[in-house]
Amino acid sequence: MILFMETIPFIDPHVHADNRSSEEFPRLKTAGCKGIVIVAGAGGGYRSPDSLLDHFRRLSQVDRRRVERAHLSVWLALGAHPSGIPEKNVDTFLEFFPQALKEYGASVVGEIGLEHCTSEEERVLAYELQVAASYNMPVIIHTPQKNKAQAIERTLDILLESPLASEYVLLDHLNRDVLPQVLSSRCWLGLSVHPAKLSPDDAAAIVAEHGPDRFVLSSDTGAHPSYLFAFPSTISAMEEKGVEKNVIYKVVYEHALSWLFHSSEKIILENKGNRHSCA
Ligand SMILES: [Zn+2]
Repeated sequence: MILFMETIPFIDPHVHADNRSSEEFPRLKTAGCKGIVIVAGAGGGYRSPDSLLDHFRRLSQVDRRRVERAHLSVWLALGAHPSGIPEKNVDTFLEFFPQALKEYGASVVGEIGLEHCTSEEERVLAYELQVAASYNMPVIIHTPQKNKAQAIERTLDILLESPLASEYVLLDHLNRDVLPQVLSSRCWLGLSVHPAKLSPDDAAAIVAEHGPDRFVLSSDTGAHPSYLFAFPSTISAMEEKGVEKNVIYKVVYEHALSWLFHSSEKIILENKGNRHSCA
């Protein structure tokens, strides 16, 4: 008897497509991928606003097409990664940022966030959150490897002070240590299955323990060694741990869509007191 295994569809909300080859996207499609969010990255640093804007242009005009050729849905996330804030003329970049989102057809702001929690990083993050709120756009926020708890605390403070409701934020690269800080928040909780972050088994164990909650699986596939098949591997690991199919479906597919399409609703709530916060 031949058994046909049902492939669980997935959406990867964090891919640095400019660092991946065109051969990989059809392979992801075959493995069940329905779409990816192409995310702007640090790129080794940018000396000027023009360098960062050229990165945005490449993602929009070159990488988006490479992914679409594999018949995957594509969403574009643009923003200044904390390690990719231009070295000079930052204000020129910030001034042009809202126009760049429109010009390059972005539907998400990111990845943005804090790396060293400098005042400049905090200023740029606060501004980008404000722009996201004014455009009703979801946001993907990076959290660093080092001093993750401290950076998350500051990030949540800045988010609380911003006009953006927490439901529009995917707070990515979380791990078991910081879960107590974020579980009660209204942010989407990103679990990045990546050699420098979580293994498929780590991510599966978190979901097996906590249920779907607001977890969203991501891969952060990019220039550094990555798990191309982060999603299929983690789906298998969850199945081995007895996680129910509907729970798996939520964390690999449904929650990503909920995060992406929340933008159709009103996100700037006039009464700050009624706003759900991450604090
Ligand atoms: Zn990334």
